[in-house]
Amino acid sequence: MSTAVIYDEAFLRHKTPEGHPESPERLKAVLQFLKAHSLLDHPNVQVIQPRPAETKHILAAHTPEHLRDIQDAEKKAQTQGIVALDEDTFVSDASYQTAMLAAGAGLTAIDSVLSGAAQNAFVLARPPGHHAEEDFAMGFCLFNNIAIAAKYAQQEHHIPKILIVDFDVHHGNGTQEIFYKDPSVAYFSMHQAPFYPGTGAYDEIGADEAEYTTCNAPVPAESLFELYDAVFREILFPFADRFRPDLLLVSAGYDAHWKDPLANELLDTSSYAALTAYLKELAETYCQGKMVFF
Ligand SMILES: [Zn+2]
Repeated sequence: MSTAVIYDEAFLRHKTPEGHPESPERLKAVLQFLKAHSLLDHPNVQVIQPRPAETKHILAAHTPEHLRDIQDAEKKAQTQGIVALDEDTFVSDASYQTAMLAAGAGLTAIDSVLSGAAQNAFVLARPPGHHAEEDFAMGFCLFNNIAIAAKYAQQEHHIPKILIVDFDVHHGNGTQEIFYKDPSVAYFSMHQAPFYPGTGAYDEIGADEAEYTTCNAPVPAESLFELYDAVFREILFPFADRFRPDLLLVSAGYDAHWKDPLANELLDTSSYAALTAYLKELAETYCQGKMVFF
């Protein structure tokens, strides 16, 4: 069964200030590794170029004001250089276009997986998305790529129920906010706490009709794989079983790795392989294996 990798060199065109942790080097490093291990030539891997998202796709998850803010910031950056939206979120002279392509990469991945062209997909894109809320950018994120992809899967492919699992070391406040009252998209996050952005407490469980479709598992700094393993088996699996998703989307930040310079968790590469195996199992149980990593 094949994996689609959605990538475009244009993702390197979104620039951040010198020394910023969310840099083009992140993608370059991943590609270098994949090439060095001949993984992009693997018979089960297909590399697909994304198409840009259209305005209507962005507006399924964001306000028109937010879209305009990012467009305006890009224009400003074209004459004045990199623009700061907050203390750690930046827009350069091609960031709006790049963010449209990054959001489009999620749609390309959804199309590949739901058409059956690929079993699952990995969206290798930037700028990232999970901190971007309906009405504002934050935490390096301009548009919420995974939320835009979930809305697209529902609206264009008529997928009833989607589970988003977020194992990034930070809580995905933006994704949670966008679906907090939506019972058709469940959100599970395991993240370091207390830590940026400060949301994601146990008692944030969704609201109105969507009560109990948000599930947060905050864990202390210096947690080992054993805790992640237990949380996946004892909390995520029953949560997924109650929700029974038709599609699994994953916010796959790798910053709970012990070598990550910003966070303080103690996962290693084999931990991520084990968590990925759990997610594959989950996708096979409920979603015919259909899964997209972001
Ligand atoms: Zn993160």
